Amino acid sequence: MEGKIKQLKNLLSKENKIVITTHTNPDGDAIGSSLALFHLFKKMSLNVKVITPNQHPGFLDWVPGCEHIIVYENDVELAKKTINNSNLIFTLDFNDLSRSGKIAENIDLEYHKLVMIDHHQSPNDYATIMFSHPEISSTCELIFNIAVNLGKKELINKEISTCLYLGMMTDTGSFQYNGVNGKTHNTLSFLLEKGIDHSKIYNNIYNSNTLSKLKILGCAIKNLSLIHDKKTSYTFLTKKELKQNQYKKGDSEGIVNYGLSLKNIHFTAIFIEDELEINLIKISFRSKNEFPCDKFAKEFFSGGGHKNAAGGKFEGTVVNAIKKFKSSLKTFKTN
Ligand code: 5GP
Ligand code: MN
Repeated sequence: MEGKIKQLKNLLSKENKIVITTHTNPDGDAIGSSLALFHLFKKMSLNVKVITPNQHPGFLDWVPGCEHIIVYENDVELAKKTINNSNLIFTLDFNDLSRSGKIAENIDLEYHKLVMIDHHQSPNDYATIMFSHPEISSTCELIFNIAVNLGKKELINKEISTCLYLGMMTDTGSFQYNGVNGKTHNTLSFLLEKGIDHSKIYNNIYNSNTLSKLKILGCAIKNLSLIHDKKTSYTFLTKKELKQNQYKKGDSEGIVNYGLSLKNIHFTAIFIEDELEINLIKISFRSKNEFPCDKFAKEFFSGGGHKNAAGGKFEGTVVNAIKKFKSSLKTFKTN
């Protein structure tokens, strides 16, 4: 990391106009890492803006600094102008520029300098400086490491700590996944010492359900099926079910994990009909232990992600997506 930190230090000057961006449908790690870096750069008196491709779910509205985010989809002109005026772009929590949606179309690879900070496998080589660390369980933990290596640990205050804790918590399933290690907990210890309200952060994310969200969870549980011999479960949500229960963005987040809470199940998937587009199914995969969700998603459903959490898509009906899922499981080799 040392050589890259040196390169990065040279770029962090007051003359540079910085944009921080992240992936479409930003989650806790995307928003947490973007705002943590935003606050850090502000404290370093740098010229910095955050632009997300689309609106984050409402359960992230409380994150310190959220009000400063420019949402591309909501304010195209301002977002375009801000990107055109910038010369240094930080891309956080994704490994392929296309994951930033329309923002990617406005980035000029000849002109803009790009810094990737990410923890997904197999990154595309688009950045001037690449901090690609799949062994680290969240982009937020990586931001902490980079801040420390930049010699800016003393700037990490309660506000930044809150943003970092958020992403570390959400991307590790509240610290249960394999990537969590002693270093993760050392970092968490530092953040807690800064006086963050970890209980409030947890409650803001996991105990702030709306009735519609719980009813949608009810539908997904009703639709849950098992494939015993493959230690697999799967479920689905139709457009009709989403509509009947007043679906709002983010309502289906986390539902996939229930399929994995079953005894003797090590792989699960949820198929969700896109509420707007016809014949587009968004799929989430989760696994325990060694089952490689990312490999499965990439091989059969044009997706990717991490070993224990990945996503993909399917064009067609839910019934056909599930048919393909079952036949893919029969042929899939885990290594
Ligand atoms: P989720 O199921 O929460 O949408 O996504 C789980 C993980 O898989 C996330 O880390 C996300 O970045 C990744 N992921 C989700 N959808 C896609 C996709 O279509 N392509 C790729 N490459 N990764 C995805
Ligand atoms: Mn992440």
